[in-house]
Amino acid sequence: MSNERPFDGELAGVTSRVPVDDYEIEREAVIAMLERERRSLTASLVALSLLAIGVAMLPNPGLMVVLLALRVVSFLFTRTAASRLEKKVRARDPLRRSRWILFGAMLLTGVTLALMLWPQPQAAPPVAVALIQIVIIVAITLISVTLAALPASRDAMLFAFWGTASALILLHPADIDPMLIAVITLGVTGVRIYSANTGQHMRSSARILVENRELSEDLADALAHAEFLSWRDPLTGLFNRRMLFEETRKERSARARHLLTIDLDRFKAINDTFGHGVGDHVLIAAADAIRDWSASLGDPDEHPAFRLGGEEFLVILRGLDDTAALDQAERLRMQISALEDQFTDHPGIAISASIGLSAWRFGESLDDALMRADIACYEAKNTGRNKVRRAA
Ligand code: GH3
Ligand code: MG
Ligand code: MG
Repeated sequence: MSNERPFDGELAGVTSRVPVDDYEIEREAVIAMLERERRSLTASLVALSLLAIGVAMLPNPGLMVVLLALRVVSFLFTRTAASRLEKKVRARDPLRRSRWILFGAMLLTGVTLALMLWPQPQAAPPVAVALIQIVIIVAITLISVTLAALPASRDAMLFAFWGTASALILLHPADIDPMLIAVITLGVTGVRIYSANTGQHMRSSARILVENRELSEDLADALAHAEFLSWRDPLTGLFNRRMLFEETRKERSARARHLLTIDLDRFKAINDTFGHGVGDHVLIAAADAIRDWSASLGDPDEHPAFRLGGEEFLVILRGLDDTAALDQAERLRMQISALEDQFTDHPGIAISASIGLSAWRFGESLDDALMRADIACYEAKNTGRNKVRRAA
């Protein structure tokens, strides 16, 4: 417990809901995608192994070994690019560069996957050729779906795959029917459409996640605000009357205690002359002065300050003897009367306080001690204001 400043430094107000942040939605979608990508590591290794088995079954695997090696390099490049992007996205760093790197990695993926379809001689065992082709088709589909949240990278891969595969077909007209280009185009388009649907689904899941998170944050704020208001005065952030009664329940020791009632002088005149808004600012400035003064006495928990209502404040002082308490009350009185310097825009404003000081004896009720402090405060008013009076 301490004499905190007002909630969020504002007068109590209603916070309005901010529209869900597009960056946050994209971030969640990308995080989900990268998690999926990481989980697909085993599948990727199985695919590479199957490709290696297919290549090993070929009678003359020389070129295919080189292409497989390229495929492995491309795979490692993609994983590095993906983990770099993940690091950035989690740290909420700008993603531009990492996206470009992944874009490049995906272009290479498309090219290296298509190159694995390099036409094989008639002598090649059909099982090996079919194995390689099936793995490539499955890989293209799975990678497209996994990458659904990054459409540019996905399209780069599909386009690179389509372009390279078509070039292979055109370069080998004797071995491959050029009509296969149409088949590949259809296949790639189908995968693209399917992946786009998945992308939409990922984005809407991400939106729901972000919305739920923002709602919980709003709720937590609202609860914190409610908790703040239940113990504090919303205008000044000082404790309220309810907290004062809590304070009386926790008697710590028979240490010296004093009560200070502080009543601003001729405050109504400030409202009448300068307006209620200026009056509020004077109240806030007086509360700040009380808070700073109480903090200067040491542990603020030992000297809690309250706004009892209107322009009346109360401070409990602990651990000071009568003389020190009186000195401190006098110091506070001077600090409040110095507040006029903060209101030079309002010439003629007079800010001061009358302070009543009473010793709060051990075992004595708060009401009794408060009454004696109040009487001392009236005496200060009646003897000219801007004074400290000690109760008998
Ligand atoms: P005195 O020196 O005898 O204490 O005179 P005073 O004018 O300070 O005392 P009085 O009790 O006559 O007036 C207190 C005024 O404080 C009246 C009320 O309108 C004003 N007031 C109470 N609460 C607030 C508030 O939250 N904001 C503002 N601006 N004024 C307030
Ligand atoms: Mg008053
Ligand atoms: Mg007053």
